[in-house]
Amino acid sequence: MSPILSIEAVTKNFGGIQALNGVDLQLPDGDVKCIIGPNGCGKSTLFNIISGALPPTSGRVEFAGEDITGLTPPIISRLGVGRKFQVPAVFGDMTVTENIEIAAAAAKRAYLPLSMLRRRPDRSDYDRLLADSGLGDYAGVVASELPHGIKQRLEIMMLVTTSARLLLLDEPTAGMTEAETAATVALIRDIRANLGVSILVIEHDMAFVRELDCPVVVMMKGAVLTEGAYDDIKDDPEIRRAYLGE
Ligand code: ADP
Ligand code: MG
Repeated sequence: MSPILSIEAVTKNFGGIQALNGVDLQLPDGDVKCIIGPNGCGKSTLFNIISGALPPTSGRVEFAGEDITGLTPPIISRLGVGRKFQVPAVFGDMTVTENIEIAAAAAKRAYLPLSMLRRRPDRSDYDRLLADSGLGDYAGVVASELPHGIKQRLEIMMLVTTSARLLLLDEPTAGMTEAETAATVALIRDIRANLGVSILVIEHDMAFVRELDCPVVVMMKGAVLTEGAYDDIKDDPEIRRAYLGE
């Protein structure tokens, strides 16, 4: 199957800083991959380029077979790329249910090519995901009063509800407790398995990476150093040196 996302030779310079110097990365449709790498290696810059927040200096980004290089964030998001930032973007004065309803209303305005959807999610999918993700118990709670982990999961659910075909999650478990992290792993697995949404996750919590059990892309100095299974990555001496100073 053709990849949902294909990144070819992407570079990005900020003045004299070469933040990305030739990134190649493919995500098969319906798959999850984790991106790890030391601070400043260009992970968030790569997400900024995929989502259209920044144009690349050179290179190409394809989403679902279409060239999306340099398109604006509203267009890329309406095509079905949902980006989650480190700080959750939810409507603080609205309840969990109202937040999800707003996302569902936004989905109706999406330009999503229907041929790209394997199956359009319906109300029962969202209700089940809400229950499974632990959000169901908070349905009537105003978002500003939610525990941190629940708020983060609400934002992921809102992105899924806007019919995103590809989720970009930048350190989704930052500041979470162990239990919240485990629930987030379960939610990501569920979204992928039951809705077929493809997911790229930037994460530095190696316990999360192990639990998610997906291919790991290791970035270093603005490029992809290697890609492999967690068990292969964790014993690689070069990676251990970069991460643990060994
Ligand atoms: P990571 O997310 O892997 O920690 P970033 O992508 O945030 O790394 O940053 C990569 C490099 O690019 C860093 O040197 C950072 O300072 C620089 N950088 C990122 N965004 C900008 C920007 N908007 N303007 C200038 N420099 C930037
Ligand atoms: Mg970052």
